[in-house]
Amino acid sequence: MPDYSKITLDTIRTSAMPAVISAAMLRLDQLHPEISGNKWFKLKYNLEDTRAAGKATIVTFGGAYSNHIAATAAACRDAGMHAIGIIRGEEIRADSNATLQLAAANGMELRFVSRETYKAVQQPSNPLYQALAEEAYIIPEGGHNAAGARGCEDILRIHPTSSYTHILCAVGTGTTLAGIINSAAPHQQVLGISVLKGAAYLQQEIAALLLPAHTASWELLTEHHGGGYGKYSAEQVNSMNEFYQQTHIPTDIIYTGKLIQAFNTLLKTNYFPDGSNVLLIHTGGLQGNSSVVPGTLTF
Ligand SMILES: *Cc1c(COP(=O)(O)O)cnc(C)c1O
Repeated sequence: MPDYSKITLDTIRTSAMPAVISAAMLRLDQLHPEISGNKWFKLKYNLEDTRAAGKATIVTFGGAYSNHIAATAAACRDAGMHAIGIIRGEEIRADSNATLQLAAANGMELRFVSRETYKAVQQPSNPLYQALAEEAYIIPEGGHNAAGARGCEDILRIHPTSSYTHILCAVGTGTTLAGIINSAAPHQQVLGISVLKGAAYLQQEIAALLLPAHTASWELLTEHHGGGYGKYSAEQVNSMNEFYQQTHIPTDIIYTGKLIQAFNTLLKTNYFPDGSNVLLIHTGGLQGNSSVVPGTLTF
C-alpha cells in the first residue's frame, strides 16, 4: 500500500509567472518508485473490487510503453495477485523496452497480440473477453472506468487544496481528470491538458465519468498536444529543462512536460486573472524519460 505522506505540495515560482500569479505542484510522482503518480489512484478501487469479486487475477491492456501496464504489474505483485497484460503488437517482446521489462520482472504475464485482436478482446461482447472475465477481473486500458475515477477523487484530499483557483492536469484517457473534477470545489476551475491529438472526443468520455453532484467548472484543452502522443518539440524540452532549473522538479516527456508547456502558454496569453492560485498535478511517468535521447533533458 503506497504511503500518501510521501506526496508533497511544493510552492513553485518560475520566470514565466508574473508576480500576480501563484502556483504549486502536487507531487504524485513521489508516491511510489514503480506505481507511478496517478496510476495508483486509478487502481486502488479496482483492486478492492477484484477481491470483493473473489478473484485473484487481473487482466488489463496497454501499448508497449504503457505506464498503466507497469503500474498494474507492481500493484498486483504488492497485493499478491496474478496479473496478465495484453499488449498491442505481436512483434513486441518482453525485453523490448524498460516499461515491459519492469512489468515482466514484477511477475506480470505478458501476452502480445495483433492490433485487430487487441481491439476485439476489449469488447465485452467478444468470446475472448468473456473467457478472460470468467477467471479474472478486467480493468480497461488505461484504468478508464468508474472505479478508476473514484480513486482519483482522493488526489485533492491528500493536502489542503481549497485555496487554489485553477487545477491543471495532463490527460490521456481523462479518468484522472474526471476524479479531480468530481472532488473539486465549486469555486475551482479544472483544466485538462490533452496529450493526444484530436482529443475532442474525450470530452464525452470524461463527462460520462462525472458524478451528477460535481460542482467545479471544467474544460478540456486540446491544443497543447505538441504534435501528438509521444511527440515533443525543442520548445517543450526547453520548458522542461527550465522548469527543472527553477523548481528542481523533474517532469516526464509524454504527460507532465506538456502540462508545463501548456501552463507557460496560458501564462503568456494572460489566461489566468490576476490573483489566480494555480495547482499543477504532477502525475508521475518519470521512468518514461529513459526512452529520450541522452543529453536532451538536463536532469
Ligand atoms: C497515465 C498518465 C496520465 C493520464 O492519465 P489519464 O487518467 O489516463 O488521463 C497522466 N500523466 C501520467 C504521467 C500518466 O502516466
